[in-house]
Amino acid sequence: MSQTIKMTTPLISAKAIQKTYKTGQHEVRVLRGAGISASEGEFISVIGQSGSGKSTMLHVLGLLDAPDVGEVMYEGRRIDNLNETARDLLRNRVFGFIFQFYHLLPELSLLENVMAPLMIRYSMWNYWKQRRSIKQQALEILEQVGLGHRTKHRPSQLSGGELQRGAIARALITKPRILLADEPTGNLDADTGQEIMTLLKQLNEESRLTIVMVTHDEAVASQGHRTVRLKEGRIETATIAKTGVATAM
Ligand code: ADP
Ligand code: MG
Repeated sequence: MSQTIKMTTPLISAKAIQKTYKTGQHEVRVLRGAGISASEGEFISVIGQSGSGKSTMLHVLGLLDAPDVGEVMYEGRRIDNLNETARDLLRNRVFGFIFQFYHLLPELSLLENVMAPLMIRYSMWNYWKQRRSIKQQALEILEQVGLGHRTKHRPSQLSGGELQRGAIARALITKPRILLADEPTGNLDADTGQEIMTLLKQLNEESRLTIVMVTHDEAVASQGHRTVRLKEGRIETATIAKTGVATAM
């Protein structure tokens, strides 16, 4: 049988993104035509120095922030120009987010933190009807990320690594297709950071979760399938594949 080359549409992409922040008299041109795309099941690292626009790019990709110029596409359809309701829906259903400082709510237990996104999704009535099933899902996910023994703890009673695992669990409860991770190991020591990387790689491999992760750390970045480099508001044209061979984008 002859070999066929499949041209697959990227699951998520951002094209020619420009973004300038204005604060008073000051203008910072952060993104100057940067583009990035990820296929389903890909684990992409975005690397760049502090202030190079990595977080901005991730926020644009996940509809947390709007580009001045450029397009964000999901399954080949433009999504950045949809109305607010549609963007909210996509943001809550398609994307999961994790951050350097976890952002768990301090007054809730770990279990309640993980249940929170679904509490927000359902109306009060539906939430109470489904509370047991939501709790069960949250417990299973906490077990999956290795926190089955910490469900009643408050964030202040957890270590950095546990907090990031908890944040990952909270991101997973909505069953996202794409996990956007902003310096997920940035506040952790090397060993704990590596545990988080191992968990992310496992989620990528076993659940085919597409991951776009930004980091300033080369050793962390190299653990994805492919690294793209953000410099002076653009993505450098060569991407570094895991084999170490530079390939044109
Ligand atoms: P990185 O994540 O690579 O460190 P960021 O995307 O956070 O970079 O920021 C890039 C630049 O944009 C920085 O100079 C930062 O100060 C500026 N910036 C980011 N967000 C805002 C904002 N909301 N308002 C004004 N300037 C911002
Ligand atoms: Mg950042």
